[in-house]
Amino acid sequence: MKVAGAYWRGDSRNPMLTRIYGTAWGNQADLDAYLHRLEEAERRDHRRLGREMDLFHFQEDAPGAVFWHPKGWALFRNLQNYIRRRQSAAGYAEVNAPELMDASLWVVTGHMETFRDYMFLTEHREADERTYVIKPMNCPGHIQIFKHGLKSYRDLPLKLAEFGKVHRFEPSGALHGLMRVRAFTQDDAHVFITEDQITAECLAMNDLILSIYEDFGFSDVTIKFSDRPAQRIGADQVWDKAEVALMQALEASGRPWTLNKGEGAFYGPKLEYVLRDAIGRDWQCGTIQVDFNMPGRLGAFYIDEHSSKVTPVMLHRAMFGSLERFTGILIEHYAGHFPLWLAPVQAVICTITSDADDYARAALNAARRAGLRVEADLRNEKITYKVREHSVAKIPVLLVVGKKEAADGTVSIRRLGSQAQTIVPLEKALSMLAEEAIAPDLKRMKLAA
Ligand SMILES: [Zn+2]
Repeated sequence: MKVAGAYWRGDSRNPMLTRIYGTAWGNQADLDAYLHRLEEAERRDHRRLGREMDLFHFQEDAPGAVFWHPKGWALFRNLQNYIRRRQSAAGYAEVNAPELMDASLWVVTGHMETFRDYMFLTEHREADERTYVIKPMNCPGHIQIFKHGLKSYRDLPLKLAEFGKVHRFEPSGALHGLMRVRAFTQDDAHVFITEDQITAECLAMNDLILSIYEDFGFSDVTIKFSDRPAQRIGADQVWDKAEVALMQALEASGRPWTLNKGEGAFYGPKLEYVLRDAIGRDWQCGTIQVDFNMPGRLGAFYIDEHSSKVTPVMLHRAMFGSLERFTGILIEHYAGHFPLWLAPVQAVICTITSDADDYARAALNAARRAGLRVEADLRNEKITYKVREHSVAKIPVLLVVGKKEAADGTVSIRRLGSQAQTIVPLEKALSMLAEEAIAPDLKRMKLAA
């Protein structure tokens, strides 16, 4: 498969040897399938496509942190907007908590003790005698928001969501494009509930998560269920309740699931969602975690119907997980060939000759008014050159215009990966594309109305 240099016994004072990598399979068909998968993975590599599609870059000044270019950021915001709509329809309120908080808070949460190696801290400043932590997680911030103002059982479930930018010190050798970064954005949420609400809320979350994956073309989803570990906090009857609740959510989903016996967090059981992509690779993305610990640790409570203070249960929930990583997964899943609603640039209007420049400009304005993300290519280049260039950039639709189209008020539509061209009136083309570009959730709303 490949060769690499290696020192004898890993010691650089020893002679350099050659390490030879190979692979072995039981039969030709399995070997072929394996090689095909490698080839596909190479062709779909999000770092290469990210460059060809001009989506983002990395540089040494900021290891593991993304420089998003306009098109990549358009894609990222598409994902955010989609999640915003789905969350707000499900009763979540979006919040935003500080990225720097005093280190003492992270002592109380227990992170300084258990997560210290992954955390970035600021230098201790004499000016205010403080050290700050750049947040590695959003939970403590959300608990502060929950604690602000007296909460009653009538306020529950209280659902706080944040596109929380977190930083974690991953070893530099582990960094890999968008898949493994140090700075990332979670589609994070914390839902504060009573013990009796665990079942219903887990069911609702599970349905939301699975329906979101469907919209992105992932129908092959497995769920991992992790139950109580030996080392844990919380009464056994609360664990019973939480585990039964998660199990009911699992059974209702009708999805295959596996049991990770004893692999739950010390503060509660969890579900993890694993997506299978177009070439059969598995990616763990979403999670639901039941937490009996952190709210109490940070002094959160609500007043129950008997006027006594009760610590709420908290559910940690992420659907994409990291938006950066999910973008990488999507690029590879679709091989850059995004459905129209996701594509950062949905169409480019290309002129064949400069005679059509004015018409192309007018078409560009009309397309933008129709809500499409469109650019125009008026360069003095051969049309075959333009088509090739935009197909490398994975632009889904080209609207080609020349003298004849300008005179007739038409465009010639070319789809990515197809030689076919259809000539249609400009207005019809735009309304057709605008219809196709509607996000799946909005399409469903439209149908329901
Ligand atoms: Zn959390």
